[in-house]
Amino acid sequence: MPLPYQDSSLPVRERVEDLLGRMTLPEKVGQMLQLDARQDLSEIVLDKLAGSILHTSPAKLVEAAELTARTRLRIPLITAEDCIHGHAFWPGATVFPTQLAMAATWDPALVERVARATAVEAAATGVHWTFSPVLCIARDLRWGRVDETFGEDPFLIGELGAAMIRGYQGEGLTDPTAILATAKHFAGYSETQGGRDASEADISRRKLRSWFLPPFERAAAEGCRVFMLGYQSMDGVPITANKWLLNDVLKEEWGFTGTLVTDWDNVGRMVWEQKVCADYAEAAAVAVKAGNDLIMTTPAFFEGAQEAIRRGVLGEEDIDAAVRRILRLKFELGLFENPRTPDAARQAEVIGNAGHTALNLETARRSLVLLRNEGVLPLPASSPASKRIALLGPNADDVSTQLGDWAGDSGQVDWMPDGHPRELTSTVLDGLRDLLPDGWTLDFDPAVEIERLVPDPEGETFPDGQPRPPISVGVPADPARVAAAAATAAAADYAIVVVGDTVNLNGEHKSTATLELQGGQIALLDAVAATGTPMIVVLIDGKPHALPESALGAAAIVQAFNPGMRGGQAIAELLLGLIEPAGRMPISAARHAGQQPVFYNQTRGQHGSRYADLTQDPLFAFGEGLSYTTVTYDGLSIEEPDVAADGVVRATVRLSNTGERPALETVQVYVSDLVTSVTWASRELKTYRQVTVAPGESVTVSVEVPAADCTLVDADGRRVVEAGDFELLVGPNSRPSALLAAKFRIS
Ligand code: BGC
Repeated sequence: MPLPYQDSSLPVRERVEDLLGRMTLPEKVGQMLQLDARQDLSEIVLDKLAGSILHTSPAKLVEAAELTARTRLRIPLITAEDCIHGHAFWPGATVFPTQLAMAATWDPALVERVARATAVEAAATGVHWTFSPVLCIARDLRWGRVDETFGEDPFLIGELGAAMIRGYQGEGLTDPTAILATAKHFAGYSETQGGRDASEADISRRKLRSWFLPPFERAAAEGCRVFMLGYQSMDGVPITANKWLLNDVLKEEWGFTGTLVTDWDNVGRMVWEQKVCADYAEAAAVAVKAGNDLIMTTPAFFEGAQEAIRRGVLGEEDIDAAVRRILRLKFELGLFENPRTPDAARQAEVIGNAGHTALNLETARRSLVLLRNEGVLPLPASSPASKRIALLGPNADDVSTQLGDWAGDSGQVDWMPDGHPRELTSTVLDGLRDLLPDGWTLDFDPAVEIERLVPDPEGETFPDGQPRPPISVGVPADPARVAAAAATAAAADYAIVVVGDTVNLNGEHKSTATLELQGGQIALLDAVAATGTPMIVVLIDGKPHALPESALGAAAIVQAFNPGMRGGQAIAELLLGLIEPAGRMPISAARHAGQQPVFYNQTRGQHGSRYADLTQDPLFAFGEGLSYTTVTYDGLSIEEPDVAADGVVRATVRLSNTGERPALETVQVYVSDLVTSVTWASRELKTYRQVTVAPGESVTVSVEVPAADCTLVDADGRRVVEAGDFELLVGPNSRPSALLAAKFRIS
């Protein structure tokens, strides 16, 4: 006879109450622990009674299921992993372009398919939950986690984040291929000081509501089941303890009923790092009372929470409230009936399968942004004359940079020291070798190095025992090697120089003070530029870089970010004109690190737009990207310029492809509120449409913006539409000079 909680015919609520009633206090507190499975798993499951684990190797995923069967109540474990651009810590899984690269596609449907494929692969391995998507707004490019974001615009982030959540969560939690999505890092984590990771965020509630919260509100509305908290504090209150954000805003205002997980040892850090709690009992009480459910990697929470109850600073009913939410999630996932353990047969079918590989290639193709082209691209692949190509630079054949952070051997897990099987990744070298026309010659020379890694002088570990990442020290160019590379370039018809950064210059704890290309890369670019051979610069990097003059003078620049396993093939196809460039910048690039932040939707201020020694204009603006043709925009016209508050602004614009190749154009629609009661952004992206325009063709594109979207956040922190005059701005990117304008009025 099954116990009531084991009876799947009973409603979830009854099952939860029955199970909760049978649990001891240590079992309840244990349920709240999410522990690091790289440690002793039997201690985690049998002694700490953990409810969840993360960073679980393929072997340990099998072991975890066996250990759970030995616990008193057999409450299934929930397993979580950072599958943030593919199930990238599973050997041989499909590693997609990073989130920033995916954002350059501006294509929610494509991003949803990527998330679906990721969920299908992850679910087959016994992973139930991914810590993705990242909804942080990347504003300071020095921050180490720009590559994990969808860029700088709240609307675009919301669109793509919502798509990713739909993809992960599939048809609903009972779908065995669904995995839980996590909206992270809630909220304002990216608003760093000086780009430094996890510094105090200098952010007011109004600023938070204006830009940082909207993507999260969208995620909550999309039914995202988990929210993960950020590391930072705001106005002195660590997010982990921030009742206003976690309770008043997320749960009460937005009606979020899902689960909260802290970030890595947020609770412990309140004790040993931020020093706002005297001990773990106090920290546990603060965290539970603020509404946290799963406590990530703070093993001492186990004793701390029990001690807090003994001291009377925390009630068992507070613990019960969190445990109820955790158990409900497990029941809703159906884990008691089907614990979704690793399925070898299914893995053989889905991990890195042909369909996912094709989707990966499609995504990489769409993510490439052509930033400059002085007519050199596409290379004349169909011309009868054979050509000589010099392929230079440290990132032309570097698998780990191409895959980016949170993949294989990027440092977070210990079971893939050699990364993914080499043959799964096509580098630019591989791509060109495969695709160059017969008779063309390819000379390859990385020529310079970016870095060597040295131990952090502060010690191998942080005070909590976590490893400190090694420090990246630039390796100066070797003049002889640079001269040889320049000679190779001089003898070639085209020089393709692939530069950028490495995974050691991106990630947590890895913010950069500068935005310059490191090591010998600038010397290489300068030397190749001096040869006069047409130079094509390809950037494989986690963030936009401030490029040297020699690169800016190149005949072409392609921004690839971290384009994933099929990236090299996609880049070669682009260079050879086998595909059309369609990516658009999801983030602005700076001319100099000192311009930070350089995002497009800045609030109107005073005293103009220049530094004494530099413009404030970005190097490349949000939304920029070229095609292999020219598309002109004209004839913007608004159907009815007087719009009611519940009405819709409807407009049309004509696009004409005046060149010889097709274009996939991203028609961007910004709104400027001309006079506002508070200072506000000069323009904001409100919608966009992607349309194909055939060579020589004109198409009329209609766009719609509901008046209700033309909001601002007033001085009291309320999001409102203020009646009055607005401008609709339509064009191919966010630069004022690229946008057509038409006035409308909201009454
Ligand atoms: C990161 C999170 C990540 C977690 C688990 C943290 O340090 O900030 O984004 O999901 O680790 O790996």
